[in-house]
Amino acid sequence: MESHMDLRISYFPGKFIQGNHAVKELDQFIQLFGGRPYLLVTPSMKRVVEEYGYDRYDHEFMRRPCCWKVIDELVERIRDQDYTVIVGIGGGKIVDIAKAAADKLDLKVILVPTVAASSAAFSACSVIYTEDNIEESVYYEKHSPDVLLLDNSLIMGAGTRHLVAGMGDALAVYFEAKGCVRSGAENSLHAKQTFCALAMCDYCLDTLLQYGLEAKTACDKKTITPAVERIIELNLLSAGIAFEGGGLAAAHAIHNGLTILPKVRQYLHGEVVAFGVLSELHLTHADPEETDRIYTFCEKIGLPTTLAQIGAGDMTPEVLKEVAQAVYHDPYLHHEGSDITVEDIYDAMSAADAMGRDRKAVAK
Ligand SMILES: [Zn+2]
Repeated sequence: MESHMDLRISYFPGKFIQGNHAVKELDQFIQLFGGRPYLLVTPSMKRVVEEYGYDRYDHEFMRRPCCWKVIDELVERIRDQDYTVIVGIGGGKIVDIAKAAADKLDLKVILVPTVAASSAAFSACSVIYTEDNIEESVYYEKHSPDVLLLDNSLIMGAGTRHLVAGMGDALAVYFEAKGCVRSGAENSLHAKQTFCALAMCDYCLDTLLQYGLEAKTACDKKTITPAVERIIELNLLSAGIAFEGGGLAAAHAIHNGLTILPKVRQYLHGEVVAFGVLSELHLTHADPEETDRIYTFCEKIGLPTTLAQIGAGDMTPEVLKEVAQAVYHDPYLHHEGSDITVEDIYDAMSAADAMGRDRKAVAK
């Protein structure tokens, strides 16, 4: 994708719908887009698809990585069948596969994310993995999703851990966009930040701090309260606008560096990004009061504040150095500024972990 730093760019999904049993509205959008859907469904949603009668449409249950082999095979399977729209019902991988396949076939795409663990369903890109599940590249689609349909009940059914991880991913937008603006770096659409995206960054941080704990507590009790609904919308809509039009920086670079470690890859994206945010605060010498506020928030809602909580507690200094090298070579890191060294990254991650551990020791 070309760079357009003379332009401010944001993309948006065509339609956004959210409600407690919103999946029942799916059919009207299928009909709106030609009435010939192909459904990609995560196996845990089999009951839901049957209950609403969507199994009358051609569909398949899929639990595969979002890699080119899977996407290409799917495209070959459904090409020339007169489908008008692909519907993805599932987590991040299903929605990314659905978006990429629809793009290749020039079909409409409707997404029904069943977790709010990241803003993947919002964006006009798919994260492509290798067949062994290692992040490989980002594929940019021609269009944003046509419909983003959020069913609060389904998303809450995925459990608190996913909702909290989504808050970890959303927590990053404010700090990363600020880094991009400070250093004149591009947003995720290779252009200048829109003011709308920057306003969403402020909104995300304020709303997470205000409603995050309330939403987590309600989700634990399996109750859909206004706070839960607000946070689901934030994780999938506001954070989407914010990250795509605002830009990524150190927190995601640190996530990408840490995921060279197989143990870390077993944690959710937003959980690792949250540790990236804490490291970013140390890297940028954030105001101590702000740092304290963010640690407190993470501790309260159960986001990781130490390396041990993302499976990297036994890392030797040599391995941490390797991670810091990987972070350094990640292009997002330099959205934070051009003068950051490998040592700075190493120190920031060590300091983030030490502060997390110290605070836990004091709390005991
Ligand atoms: Zn993310």
